[in-house]
Amino acid sequence: NDDQFKKVISHAKEYGYVFQSSEIYDGLSAVYDYAQNGAELKKNIRDYWWKAMVQMNENIVGIDAAIFMHPTTWKASGHVDAFNDPLIDNKDSKKRYRADVLIEDYCAKIEAKIDKEVAKAEKRFGDAFNKEEFVSTNPRVVGYQEKINATLSRMAKSLENEDLADVKALIEELEIADPLTGSRNWTDVKQFNLMFGTKLGASADSAMDLYLRPETAQGIFVNFLNVQKTSRLKIPFGIAQTGKAFRNEIVARQFIFRMREFEQMEMQFFIKPGTQGEWYEHWKETRLKWHLSLGMGADNYRFHDHEKLAHYADAAADIEFKFPFGFKELEGIHSRTDFDLSQHEKFSGKKLQYFDPEENKSYVPYVLETSIGLDRMFLAVFSNSLVEEELENGTTRTVLKLPSVLAPVKAAILPLVKKDGLPEIARQIVEELKWDFNVIYDEKDAVGRRYRRQDANGTPFCITVDHDTLENNTVTIRHRDSMEQERVKIEDLRAIIKQEVDV
Ligand code: ATP
Repeated sequence: NDDQFKKVISHAKEYGYVFQSSEIYDGLSAVYDYAQNGAELKKNIRDYWWKAMVQMNENIVGIDAAIFMHPTTWKASGHVDAFNDPLIDNKDSKKRYRADVLIEDYCAKIEAKIDKEVAKAEKRFGDAFNKEEFVSTNPRVVGYQEKINATLSRMAKSLENEDLADVKALIEELEIADPLTGSRNWTDVKQFNLMFGTKLGASADSAMDLYLRPETAQGIFVNFLNVQKTSRLKIPFGIAQTGKAFRNEIVARQFIFRMREFEQMEMQFFIKPGTQGEWYEHWKETRLKWHLSLGMGADNYRFHDHEKLAHYADAAADIEFKFPFGFKELEGIHSRTDFDLSQHEKFSGKKLQYFDPEENKSYVPYVLETSIGLDRMFLAVFSNSLVEEELENGTTRTVLKLPSVLAPVKAAILPLVKKDGLPEIARQIVEELKWDFNVIYDEKDAVGRRYRRQDANGTPFCITVDHDTLENNTVTIRHRDSMEQERVKIEDLRAIIKQEVDV
């Protein structure tokens, strides 16, 4: 809900995770900077993905292609002609909105009503409550669901047929108003291209018009044959990449969910034509497993199969995650056929075919793609981890229950007091552990306050050096989630931390 989302945004700022870009100049809309902790969390998510996709798979290799690409790339890929969003302006507020997002938000509000009905009934029926039966038979809920389905399918059809007048009619029929001002005075819906243009070269007449890439995938497609030949991989094989992408999105207050400059983690898997059905299922399942491995709750994920397909796809599904503002796309799995490679063959005049030694013939491979936004994943992890807990003594604590493998700081080393040689021992522990983990030293404030600070920062372990340490070389290790403390030998610390934070 709204309150939770506001807490997420302010916590991200207060604890050095995400700042508004150029804040001293009042910021830049939908552009953000990652701060000291955010950069670590982001790197850890990227590494977790890279390890699962590249390191653990013999037949997937990683590349790092340039952001700038030859401009013909984007003609071939269809982005120059078809990478548009339907926009609508409000005549009174002069604000611009995505028409499809206005309609989706309308449906999300109805969905929230369904959630409310379900919660009410659950309370009333207790253990006897059967959710599936309730949502399929309760007349009010069934009515809501029908309204959502009818609305979304009409929108999908209108967009597919480029019938923008009908999208506008739908907004009017649903009585959707400007979310900021409540005005319903709209202009017509118009298509707007999302690519950022720029120029390459110094002199005005020789400069070349370029685009900042709106997706990383094309860097993989144009390198497909070079990588295949130099790696000598045989189909099926994959090429993975992480990197920045840019889209001139029209957004209102979505924090890092929808940005103008963001990072993608994509993998294109090259397969024999005709096998796309089985690989599509394989990658849907494999990617969901990756998400579940982080332990953020199976109920927070669901698949959404696309009815309306992009121009390049023969099947597509999203993995949706339950963000504070509802279920939204986190990752896409797309069966892209031979669309991209064939287009690049056509536009470049170069053959992009694979010689299959088993079949003894050449063909343009089909492609199965997995595409996830790193920033969106960051928001999923961060928002899901932030909780306020009521403690037995009646106080509350704010704790960021990040999966330990992703936490920016793995352990804080705390001398109980700033004297009696305890700081020196704590520093020595830092010196030993920092070779393997990102750890910090903290001696400021009472130890209870230091624990709270680390809880809010997501640090899985606090290690406290006290007077007993001087006697027997032991310290206490406190676990963030359970707040339990154990007494352990200094020499065992590395193994204890490693067991928790290693994948
Ligand atoms: P959406 O429908 O939310 O605009 P999309 O379907 O256009 O997303 P894709 O082009 O399939 O997204 O991109 C793959 C992934 O990249 C998305 O699942 C999302 O996680 C991420 N992504 C796309 N656009 C943005 C953005 N503007 N800011 C942050 N992440 C993004």
